[in-house]
Amino acid sequence: MKIIDGKLISAKLKEELKEEVEKLKEVGIVPGLAVIIVGNDPASKTYVNSKEKNAEKLGLYSVKHQLDEKISEEQLLKLIDDLNNDSKIHGILVQLPLPNHIDSKKVLNKISIEKDVDGFHPENVGKMIVGDKAFLPCTPNGVIKILEYENVEITGKHAVIIGRSNIVGKPMAALLLERNATVTVCHSKTKNLSEIVNLADIVVAAVGRPNFVNADMVKEGAVVIDVGINRVDGKLVGDVDFDSVKEKASLITPVPGGVGPMTIAMLMYNTIESAKRRGGI
Ligand code: NAD
Repeated sequence: MKIIDGKLISAKLKEELKEEVEKLKEVGIVPGLAVIIVGNDPASKTYVNSKEKNAEKLGLYSVKHQLDEKISEEQLLKLIDDLNNDSKIHGILVQLPLPNHIDSKKVLNKISIEKDVDGFHPENVGKMIVGDKAFLPCTPNGVIKILEYENVEITGKHAVIIGRSNIVGKPMAALLLERNATVTVCHSKTKNLSEIVNLADIVVAAVGRPNFVNADMVKEGAVVIDVGINRVDGKLVGDVDFDSVKEKASLITPVPGGVGPMTIAMLMYNTIESAKRRGGI
């Protein structure tokens, strides 16, 4: 069994990105990222601060828009419009979830697809599905980078994803299918979940429930990727019962220090990619 070091993999990737940013600066291009956060959710604030800090460390131009919880949908759409037209900005990220009075779909659809570094715009999602060049959603793409870094064979392997959200489960399925895995997507209405997960060579857990995946569910030698982030008594834990599952898995990601750091690295990657595309590089 090997514990995957997401911090190390992301640090290596960020080192390469930093060099790339320096080269871009020599030709007058400074990749710019705008992050919008609405309200005061502590978890969202932590994510946004970390994104901002990482952007600054890599030498990106970074702007944070902290908005009042009561902001109208119209005002938020106007801000996105302004950022769409701001030449210093190459990536726009709206931290989810948004308050109930705001239609998240409308907001995400407003982001120009050239600046959609989260890869949530339906046009980018469509491009991803047909295998065209697109901004890929950061968390599932981060999982792919982990699998590639660890030389995990994907072709012909059975990948079971638990969770079917638009931001993790569904794009994860598309990316693994693109890489020739046989993909099964499980969700809250799935019957015989345990038997299905037991067939997996690669398990991706994106449920949002602490210790949801236990050792009995996992096949000996499986690769187990834990996307979950849950807070239990102030401590961060994943969706996988790490201590028991690690005894059966051949490779496993911890929480924290697994998928999380990769998500941020991929956001930086997409923002730099966007700046390169605009600069014709
Ligand atoms: P979500 O709530 O949108 O989706 C959860 C999915 O789990 C749903 O599709 C649901 O059908 C499925 N599910 C719920 N109960 C189930 C059950 N009993 N059996 C089988 N499936 C069940 O969540 P999400 O946005 O996809 O996030 C999932 C987890 O990943 C959360 O813990 C979230 O915090 C975490 N996350 C982490 C990162 C990261 O950077 N590491 C990024 C995004 C989300």
